[in-house]
Amino acid sequence: MLDEGHEADYAQARQAMVRDQLARRGIHDAEVLRVMGEIPRELFVPESMRDAAYEDRALPVGEDQTISQPYIVAYMSEKLEVRPGVRVLEVGTGTGYQAAILARLGADVFSVERIQSLLASARQRLETLGLECIRLCCADGSLGWPRHAPYDRIIVTAGAPEVPPALIDQLCEGGRLIVPVGRSDAQTLVCVEKRSGRTTETVLLACRFVRLVGQQGWGPPDGYD
Ligand code: SAH
Repeated sequence: MLDEGHEADYAQARQAMVRDQLARRGIHDAEVLRVMGEIPRELFVPESMRDAAYEDRALPVGEDQTISQPYIVAYMSEKLEVRPGVRVLEVGTGTGYQAAILARLGADVFSVERIQSLLASARQRLETLGLECIRLCCADGSLGWPRHAPYDRIIVTAGAPEVPPALIDQLCEGGRLIVPVGRSDAQTLVCVEKRSGRTTETVLLACRFVRLVGQQGWGPPDGYD
């Protein structure tokens, strides 16, 4: 457990992150800023990296995966327009940080992760924070999570070669999907909206995520694990 002195330091670093990395760069949604100021990001990174938890960058979290930069988490959360009670599917649980933010914004969160060990750690952290309401599943999330579909919102936190059709199928009428699309080393964040059965795509910004590995993502080099 963190001692009290450390907790005060982390709380201060968190407030500075919200002010300097988020508010100053144009994140306006008061709820997103509030929740980013509440969730202890230091609990979502490996112990050896805790002092870097509030730095303006993605951090390695093991298994060749990363926790996204705070700004990108806030940006995607804002663009998702989460309101209390909205059903959100996240593809790529990773550490569980983005899922925690969405749940604290009031969403009913379903999150899919393909790497079992990451999912197990995420589950533990989320329980510690009292967020056991988040439903987690170990599977190929490029195929969505059909059992609980459709979703009002879908957020993909790994880069796909193209928008996975399964995710469009699992989106509600009036729903919104945010997904990084492009090459494996550079993508653009795309917002897909479904209205009257038709979809429109808006390009948001350049970004760089780890690969979405799966049937409707990048094929795994050496078989599926
Ligand atoms: N949202 C996470 C960061 C995600 S990093 C957080 O807040 O910490 C991207 C994650 O997507 C990795 O954990 C990776 O294992 C996972 N991933 C990649 N392809 C996937 C797939 N097809 N289905 C589910 N998860 C996948």
